[in-house]
Amino acid sequence: LAALLADPDLLADCAYIDGQWVEGDDGRFDVQNPARGDVIARVADLSRSQVAGAIAQAEAAQKEWARWTGKERASALRRWFDLMTRHQDDLATILTAEQGKPLAEAKGEIAYGAGFVEFFAEEAKRIRGEILPAHARDKRISVIRQPIGVAAAITPWNFPNAMIARKAAPALAAGCSFIARPAGATPLSALAMAVLADRAGIPAGIFNVVTSSAAGEIGKEFCRNPSVRKLSFTGSTEVGRILLRQAAEQVKKCSMELGGNAPFIVFDDADVDAAVEGAILCKFRASGQTCVCANRIYVQEGIHDSFVERLTARVAELRIGDGLDPGVDLGPLIDRAAVEKLQGHIADAREKGGEVILGGDTADTSGSFFPPTILTGATSDMLFAQEEIFGPLAPIFRFRDEDEVIALANDTIFGLASYFYARDLGRVTRVAEALEYGIVGINTGLISTELAPFGGIKQSGLGREGSHHGIDEYLELKYICTSV
Ligand code: ADP
Repeated sequence: LAALLADPDLLADCAYIDGQWVEGDDGRFDVQNPARGDVIARVADLSRSQVAGAIAQAEAAQKEWARWTGKERASALRRWFDLMTRHQDDLATILTAEQGKPLAEAKGEIAYGAGFVEFFAEEAKRIRGEILPAHARDKRISVIRQPIGVAAAITPWNFPNAMIARKAAPALAAGCSFIARPAGATPLSALAMAVLADRAGIPAGIFNVVTSSAAGEIGKEFCRNPSVRKLSFTGSTEVGRILLRQAAEQVKKCSMELGGNAPFIVFDDADVDAAVEGAILCKFRASGQTCVCANRIYVQEGIHDSFVERLTARVAELRIGDGLDPGVDLGPLIDRAAVEKLQGHIADAREKGGEVILGGDTADTSGSFFPPTILTGATSDMLFAQEEIFGPLAPIFRFRDEDEVIALANDTIFGLASYFYARDLGRVTRVAEALEYGIVGINTGLISTELAPFGGIKQSGLGREGSHHGIDEYLELKYICTSV
């Protein structure tokens, strides 16, 4: 892997704590390339007590960082953004090697992640307080916003760079120190960010990466260590519930970006070609392994057949392969278990009357590749109606009218992203208001940007990432009452 990089020093395999590169008390763990199955790095495996030490150091460092002016923190973050941008190609190569997504998508992720660093660098200067009208003539009310303290993050493998950037940037801008525990499958992108944070002059102890194969232990330390004042998690609803339960003991502030079950609705009056292109981007990006990927595609009966026909023709053109090879549209899934989950979903749907019209099973049963798959005749009793697919399977449901499809779309415990294609203005307004989701994409399959508040309702999570709202997750309000 080092041979593919213009700057091989971006490849780090030790944890980064308090400005030092640290070996793990528990040895090292393997990081594999999911396309080739070979071990590309052996990364420091920290013990729980090493993580506790990192928290103590981050707590000490945060006091000084919080005293920096917003403008000073902004400059440091801006340098970090510049370095991420300058090293975009190398960061993308590292990302593809450990995660599998095509290089072009990995480059897009680096730009997206860096966008958060740029945006929150700017926001560091805009953490405003307020003076409010007082309740008595001799009183004055002021409100200030202060950093929460040490913020800890647990992040998944599907966006190894952006899920960390999205949390670290607002935390650092707010004046918090930050400790990331990246997913065991994808620690190299996080460590490369640490190399650049170091070069950017972000002070020791402010941005830390603790690598460990023992996710549960680190989660417990983050929840039970009183010095951690904020926990931000992106991952499954199942693990989110565990962390919320653990965090309840200390009433710790939590942000949770959890699972989704995105409906993608195509009405009769939609521009069908646009809907097909939107569906492809929304469904097959990262091989379907994002929490905002279309999970259920509802198509109104009048255009059902033509939509299916055009989608199938376009999806048949997608190329699957090693993300590092040029011209590849879909990389492998993260591991074998992901393939088996998809096979389970397809078998279940077939039993209940679903029909696979493209893709289906992989010829190569050893790797973690899975072809883009289209299934028609999907119904509400099939597994994917309630569960996140997290893979390149597009189930197509047929529906009759607006009321029916809104009821179907909302019939889930999740509420992250939703999408629909329609042109009638009244319908567009009604449906956007009726969908019980934190995000609605209208006539578009791509909604992620650092400029908008990303987050879910219902069991998809708590809090928002991105936009000026994102920094609130790392700030406390303090009301100061003065008698004059
Ligand atoms: P995904 O399906 O995206 O892997 P998970 O919720 O399983 O979602 O994992 C998200 C992150 O949470 C990963 O970094 C994983 O290692 C970590 N994780 C898994 N279980 C726990 C746990 N019990 N406590 C803390 N972190 C966990």
